[in-house]
Amino acid sequence: ITVTDLVSESYKRIGEVEDKVQAFLTLDEERARQAAKRMDGKLGTDEAKGLLFGMPIGVKDNIVTKGLRTTSASKILENFDPIYDATAASKLHNAETITIGKLNMDEFAMGSSNENSGFQVTRNPWNLERVPGGSSGGSAASVAAGEVLFSLGSDTGGSIRQPASYCGVVGLKPTYGRVSRFGLIAFASSLDQIGPITRTVEDNAYLLQAISGVDPMDSTSANVEVPSYAESLNGDVKGLRIAVPKEYLAEGVNEEVRQSVLEALKVLEKLGATWEEVSLPHSKYALATYYLLSSSEASANLARFDGVRYGYRTADPENLIDLYKKTRAEGFGDEVKRRIMLGTFALSSGYYDAYYKKAQKVRTLIKQDFENVFEKYDVIIGPTAPTPAFKIGENTSDPLTMYANDILTIPVNLAGVPGISVPCGFADGLPLGLQIIGKHFDESTVYRVAHAFE
Ligand code: GLN
Repeated sequence: ITVTDLVSESYKRIGEVEDKVQAFLTLDEERARQAAKRMDGKLGTDEAKGLLFGMPIGVKDNIVTKGLRTTSASKILENFDPIYDATAASKLHNAETITIGKLNMDEFAMGSSNENSGFQVTRNPWNLERVPGGSSGGSAASVAAGEVLFSLGSDTGGSIRQPASYCGVVGLKPTYGRVSRFGLIAFASSLDQIGPITRTVEDNAYLLQAISGVDPMDSTSANVEVPSYAESLNGDVKGLRIAVPKEYLAEGVNEEVRQSVLEALKVLEKLGATWEEVSLPHSKYALATYYLLSSSEASANLARFDGVRYGYRTADPENLIDLYKKTRAEGFGDEVKRRIMLGTFALSSGYYDAYYKKAQKVRTLIKQDFENVFEKYDVIIGPTAPTPAFKIGENTSDPLTMYANDILTIPVNLAGVPGISVPCGFADGLPLGLQIIGKHFDESTVYRVAHAFE
């Protein structure tokens, strides 16, 4: 098999299913084929040494790619053609993957269903009436539909794990600082992480290894050695101590979802692990804390989209202020505007202490909940999302119901620890995900458990 064969298969599959799934915003076929040809020349020689040599991959559209349109699914960046690669993207080049195209998402990664994309609604390949989840819905759907083998997503409050769960694939949010955020169009800088979405845990481990590591261009990237994650997949979970937070199986979690987690725990028990119920008592404040902090950070990060430097610009403004106002009014979608307003309010003088500062304090309490549990346990296990994929349109009229969907993933971002979603059964023909959460920089244990269960 040649690299050209792989790339051809990928575009062939896209040709077959993409008009139904609609996972891609931009395809890069000509360049991908040229790259494949070049790489075929290396096949069989010791020059073919990239960790993921010749593997077709899709990239979420908030990760900038040199010379390849990057929109963050926003009209305001409709024609944005980056002049540099995100660090994760250049690491993919080093690993010698082939970029097939850019994947749909909720605008600026704000959403849980891809219905907030400025361009199109991606559909769940398991059932086209259902959402693929979000915000990395295109990344999860493209892998589930077999359009690409691997994809990159980003996760600020669940955006890799929840779509992975809804689409029946494997998605990992790494420890905060594990993967450089340089070139990731910022939503909430203290929470954002890029991570891998794949069909298997093993693929996921390889892809994480390829994109991880400290980066001088991102001062929050961590100088922690990158292990060979795939080596930790030895199937051994004997003696492993699992914590199951009672808050994660509580009211609001669908009965089939609860049962699937209990079944998964039985499997792990058979393999020699033990589990106990624990409490993460501050979980009930996680949603409010997250939406306050993430919207505050977003309001500052999105100030750069003003029609002056890049992206969309309104026609015929009267003056500079008018240019800012009209560009932003016309360029941003409703959900993005809602968050900018909420964040600007929370950061404004007179309100800052009551909202932003308070939320920061609660964030510390949530983080401490995790630290306490990890003193005695190796991993935390629960569902990824309270329900299977919901219907397109079902939650669009009520932002709060939509926000509630992230209740089981958000605490992990607030604490900065790694979390994976692996397929763990079905309800009504729709896939369910098991969430495995680990200690800071202990992705190896998370993968080991996920792989043993898989
Ligand atoms: N659904 C959450 C939100 O809308 C999480 C998004 C994300 O992780 N990027 O903010």
